[in-house]
Amino acid sequence: MCATEATREVEPSTVDVLAIAAHRDDVEQTCGGTLLRMASRGLRTAILDLTQGEAGTRGTAEDRAREADEAARILGVTWRQALDMPDGAIANTLENRIKIVRVLRQVRPRVVILPYWQARHPDHAIVATLGYEACFLSGLAKAPAVRPTAPSARAVAEAGETEASPHRPFKIVYASLYADVRPSFVVDITPFIEQRHQALMAYRSAARFLCRRKRFASAPLRRLAIMGSWRGCATASRLCKEKWGWWTT
Ligand SMILES: [Zn+2]
Repeated sequence: MCATEATREVEPSTVDVLAIAAHRDDVEQTCGGTLLRMASRGLRTAILDLTQGEAGTRGTAEDRAREADEAARILGVTWRQALDMPDGAIANTLENRIKIVRVLRQVRPRVVILPYWQARHPDHAIVATLGYEACFLSGLAKAPAVRPTAPSARAVAEAGETEASPHRPFKIVYASLYADVRPSFVVDITPFIEQRHQALMAYRSAARFLCRRKRFASAPLRRLAIMGSWRGCATASRLCKEKWGWWTT
């Protein structure tokens, strides 16, 4: 398996919810609160980061690995790994789809959370499509991951891949924090806003920079508050406003 050492693997078993993202810290921003809420309901949650974070402006891939491990602990996920796709240059290739298929067939999530397809960072937009197509491929019994016929798939198989039975998630949802789009539904994360914030702040190499640029840092919280208002979660709005004082209207 083309993954780094598991940064967090409490039990190598199946999970209920798997969040897939391009970079370590993406999930914390887009659906960290949702993962916290799911875990609080007894569901098994997991995160798959597709890159190591080597292209990050601040910090190294090693820094990000340690920080991701700490964030995973705070979020209460049962499993987290990072693949080795190039940071800043993720491509929707058969080889990359197969890498994700192998994870899907290992942890067998019922629900997969992907980044929304409208995004400023090209990696985020590509992962929306790459992840979707990997979920579809994973359900095919004769997919290349099982029967390697294409040259690129053979290379993956020769690298030590083991066969696993097909698995297609029951549902795929897209987490949109930055895109200017009205979501189909929102999740009330009011009780978890502090833990979500702590998970994000676990990325110390980037958090110091973000905290200095409060206008940038406040944007996600403003969006969380707006989403909360759509569902009548006034408490979420107040927490965002009162807790960190970054609220502007
Ligand atoms: Zn990202």
